[in-house]
Amino acid sequence: MLTIKTLFMNLINIRNLTKIYHTTTKEIKALENISIDIEDNKITSIIGPSGCGKSTLLNLITKIESTSTGTIRNNKDLIIGYMMQTDALLPWMSVFDNAMLGLKLQKNINDETKCYVINLLKKYDLYEFKDEYPNNLSGGMRQRLALIRTLAIKPNILLLDEPFSKLDVETRKNITDDVYKIIKELNITTILITHDIEEAISLSDNIIILSKRPGSVKCAYKLNYDEVTVPSERRKEGFFSKLYENIWSNIDHD
Ligand code: ADP
Ligand code: MG
Repeated sequence: MLTIKTLFMNLINIRNLTKIYHTTTKEIKALENISIDIEDNKITSIIGPSGCGKSTLLNLITKIESTSTGTIRNNKDLIIGYMMQTDALLPWMSVFDNAMLGLKLQKNINDETKCYVINLLKKYDLYEFKDEYPNNLSGGMRQRLALIRTLAIKPNILLLDEPFSKLDVETRKNITDDVYKIIKELNITTILITHDIEEAISLSDNIIILSKRPGSVKCAYKLNYDEVTVPSERRKEGFFSKLYENIWSNIDHD
């Protein structure tokens, strides 16, 4: 009984998932026999070589794409916050209107939701720029804005597809701490796609390595961090470089 309970306790259980895309000329097997549990209130990173099916996995979770075989079981209704590979801010809309966009699409703009967004903007140092346009923001600020827009709908699961890949190294390190704090403060179950091993180690509670296409689970790591330690501090921990080497050796390189 206990085993069954444990097995299905998490928000998302993925079992024997395979995804084949059918194009006019060929079939592309993107994912093969994936079984993963996404642990509640934790950050799970997924690393794997380019083209191995990482974005596909998120598109299957959101049901943008349909599975070929296997199942994705959700244990409650998901309110998905999906931050895609590009930040997709609308250049003709102000910072505030961009932040409100998800709520607008949901037809859920009212005093309460407006107030929630204003508080997010204040908290993450964007309120004074609320009437600016995204093109006048730095890369890090844009990323924070994209995250605020994603959080505005109060998701219970956050899907982040390589959210930092377009930022320079310095910005990336700073924003990583910010994003980590936001996620932990709101205690949201998060799946982070990345190809950056250091980012995965410093941000995650769980790391899953996918093989090259068709992506299958090669191995998984569970990290036991104290939640108050931010990513930039974790990078200084003794085990960091050992773990980095171990993960590196388990990734299929081109
Ligand atoms: P990753 O995010 O790991 O780089 P993707 O999930 O984007 O990989 O893609 C996995 C494979 O599936 C790639 O070979 C890609 O070209 C292919 N693919 C992705 N989306 C589609 C689609 N809509 N139709 C056909 N093939 C696709
Ligand atoms: Mg991708």
